[in-house]
Amino acid sequence: MDAHPVLVDVSHLTTYFPIMGGIIRKPVGQVHAVEDISFQIHEQETFSLVGESGCGKSTTGRSILRIIEPTSGTVTFDGVNLSSLSNEEMRKMRKNMQLIFQNPYASLNPRMTVRRLLEEPLNVHLHLSPAETEKEVTWISQAVGLNAEQLDRYPHQFSGGQRQRIAIARALITKPRFVVADEPVSALDVSIQSQILNLLMDLQKELKLSYLFISHDLNVVRRISSKIGVMYLGHIVETGDTEAVYTHPLHPYTRALLSAIPKEDPSDVKERIRLVGDVPSPANPPSGCPFHNRCPECMKVCSETMPEAHSLDGHIVSCHLYD
Ligand code: SF4
Repeated sequence: MDAHPVLVDVSHLTTYFPIMGGIIRKPVGQVHAVEDISFQIHEQETFSLVGESGCGKSTTGRSILRIIEPTSGTVTFDGVNLSSLSNEEMRKMRKNMQLIFQNPYASLNPRMTVRRLLEEPLNVHLHLSPAETEKEVTWISQAVGLNAEQLDRYPHQFSGGQRQRIAIARALITKPRFVVADEPVSALDVSIQSQILNLLMDLQKELKLSYLFISHDLNVVRRISSKIGVMYLGHIVETGDTEAVYTHPLHPYTRALLSAIPKEDPSDVKERIRLVGDVPSPANPPSGCPFHNRCPECMKVCSETMPEAHSLDGHIVSCHLYD
């Protein structure tokens, strides 16, 4: 049983992008980026979305924050339906919900000092006095491991890991309750990755944060997450407690993904499952199960009917093997 209440409730979230064509540029199709997905994130929990590049993870994170407007479905944050909020109400809500990007250099204005980068979200959201602003900047810079003299430098004067510390400080200075971290360590060296993951976990405890963590790196995800959702072609095909999914994956796609993780233990001789075929285009998704053209266990029903979600041993899995 989950110890904390639900903070973010994603229900049947769907995001399509129009494909424009013809001389007068009218819609000629749709990219099905996120397809009817549902999951919940509890307070102080890290829920990770994993899957190959292009599977819809980042679009899901941005749709939850309404940086991209979803096509349908609802996202409830602490009991408030975000789709019912006006743009102005949503702008105010954003101090509670922040985004950390993959590329810290691109997300930081190169013409602003670290101090100004950290002051900006406070000026937009909280309108504090100069003394209170100074106090908050000092607090967050210490929390992420920056010293006072670094505050007057520019982003290009920092290493990749330090820039990500600045980006994290900027996201957390308004004391949000929920953070979408989109591949926050994938641009960093492995040794620096570990420091930033430790920092994110320490700050989670200190600030009682909930994370939606987006990553294609299954080793990173195992370290930081309490629950995971496995995405394929815009769908969540399996969710569950992280250890349960890693030790006993149920969906054939989850099994294939996990079998590709390099083994740390040489006595572990489990075979890698090699998937054949290409990921179908999200502009022209297949009928039935989205994974059926690559699935080693595909049955006749799989190409005809979309599998329903089954609740099994603490996992929720969408696959006809469990009908
Ligand atoms: Fe494979 Fe069928 Fe399950 Fe899809 S529904 S993952 S094709 S067995």
